[in-house]
Amino acid sequence: MAENPILIQTVLIPAYYKDFRCIMGDCQDNCCDDGWKIEFSKKDYLAIKRAPKSPEVEAQMRAGMRRLREREHDGRYAEFRVTEEGRCAFHTPEGLCRLQLECGEETLPKVCRVYPRREVYTPAALERSLSPSCEGVLALLWDLEQGIDFIEDPLPKNKHRNVYPVNPAETRFAAIRSLWIDALQARALPLPRRLMLLGLLTQQLRELDWNDGEALDNWLCQSAALLGDPAALDLSRLARDQKLFLSNGLQLLIRQFRALKDVSGELLATVTDRSAIEGLDLGRVTINAGRYEAAEAKLAALLGGSEHFLENLMVTITFFLSFPSLKSPEELWKSYVNLCNLYSFYRFAAVCAMDKEARRERLFHVLVHVSRSLIHNPTQRSRLRDELFQNDSATLAHMAILVGG
Ligand code: SF4
Repeated sequence: MAENPILIQTVLIPAYYKDFRCIMGDCQDNCCDDGWKIEFSKKDYLAIKRAPKSPEVEAQMRAGMRRLREREHDGRYAEFRVTEEGRCAFHTPEGLCRLQLECGEETLPKVCRVYPRREVYTPAALERSLSPSCEGVLALLWDLEQGIDFIEDPLPKNKHRNVYPVNPAETRFAAIRSLWIDALQARALPLPRRLMLLGLLTQQLRELDWNDGEALDNWLCQSAALLGDPAALDLSRLARDQKLFLSNGLQLLIRQFRALKDVSGELLATVTDRSAIEGLDLGRVTINAGRYEAAEAKLAALLGGSEHFLENLMVTITFFLSFPSLKSPEELWKSYVNLCNLYSFYRFAAVCAMDKEARRERLFHVLVHVSRSLIHNPTQRSRLRDELFQNDSATLAHMAILVGG
């Protein structure tokens, strides 16, 4: 039976959203300098063409902007060319945008004005979030020692919209997602155990009859009560297996080797004593667990023994990717597996990053690349997740290994 539409009348943002400022010239991994395609609409194209500009920028625009006749049908009318080094044609050596400096921010294509922000209607609200692929965002997460709060405000009437849930669970998206975030922020437990608690709750939800609204509501009540006393849960059977964790991290690293660009060799060297994948035989490679553990201690010291930064990162990812999907019980479990896989790789990469230099800037540099290779690459994210399903490794017991590092 089709569900009634939900009229969305509010906007939901993480409280830190309003504090975001691009750090421009101070950014180590400027988004205009990373080889990303900058494609935009006809409206953006005409705004750039018509803006008054100096002869120098006019010439630069002619050389740096190209029509995309073959992509017009899907709204991608033109693009900025990027140099062989991956730099946007308008990017100055100081890390600024020449087009913005001369013509103002309103002349930039939407993609440049908006990044790293995302806006999407869900069954909960119009949600605005920030991508963890931006160093300015990571700096905000670093400072939020108390965790992330959310703010919900009324939307102006012209922004109201109907959202059509596909089943009774999806009509409860706001409450279920809120429970996911509460589980991630349940500080009575270490972060890996929170992820396991989330797994237990999600597994229970997956097994319910989703057409039974009362059962869904009871599950929500019982889960909220459990979150009030998470330490009472017996999670002891979810044991750590460092060897398997490192082997999984190494496999993901090899899959992402090219996308991680200049950081990949360094991460590989931390666990294998080599920095190139050519000729690397996964079946024979020796993993250097001792070196990884030394790097792990450096990360703990850099974070001051606090998990708040990684917690904020996982909450941000959950919100940014609109997890969990409630299209079906299978999709729900896929969201959970996806989150565990992401946590596992972020943690693995963060530890490996410390081997060379235990500094915040180093950590951000690596995490920006991890985010760009996974958060902004849904195809690759799904492929890595699906591999776990194909290998019968999408069980809760395997998730314990992925997050238990
Ligand atoms: S990545 Fe973020 S902080 Fe860096 S230049 Fe882009 S928007 Fe600014």
